[in-house]
Amino acid sequence: MLRTDSAAETREIGARLGRALLSASAAQPIVIALNGDLGAGKTTLIGGLLQALGYQGTVKSPTYTLIETYELAGREFCHLDLYRLNDASELETLGFHDLLQAGTIVLIEWAERVAPVLSAADLSLRIEYVETSDTARAFLFRAGSELGQELAHSVLSSR
Ligand code: ADP
Ligand code: MG
Repeated sequence: MLRTDSAAETREIGARLGRALLSASAAQPIVIALNGDLGAGKTTLIGGLLQALGYQGTVKSPTYTLIETYELAGREFCHLDLYRLNDASELETLGFHDLLQAGTIVLIEWAERVAPVLSAADLSLRIEYVETSDTARAFLFRAGSELGQELAHSVLSSR
């Protein structure tokens, strides 16, 4: 578990995760699931991640387009937001399984809305509001693979 007290600290967790992802093997796709209520900080974390790897623009939730792709540091990053997805069949319309290529890193907001996505996740992060303050958030990590465990370890241990 990790706790942040500001959006900037959440962006820093994203940056740490981004650096860990770049050091991870590109021999397989990597899927990161982000869950948590509206405004919890899923997009903020992904923005911190992508910008730490050199993206200069603003990162927004692809709520309507569902997917946004970024080419950074020689890797492809796909940012998905499944909030508007009605069922798992729409996931295939989106070409979800075609995204899962070696070297691709898939970052998914609202992954829990579609069970097959959650089961594909190497690492799931749940972001929760903490009652003590408007700007406090708790981060719960759950690894779905050995790679996910390594990623969680490096995010939790780096400062
Ligand atoms: P989500 O994608 O989960 O719906 P966003 O990242 O778009 O959420 O929005 C989070 C909002 O909460 C932003 O306006 C951000 O500035 C604010 N915020 C306040 N405290 C935090 C924190 N500790 N971590 C992340 N965001 C925070
Ligand atoms: Mg969002």
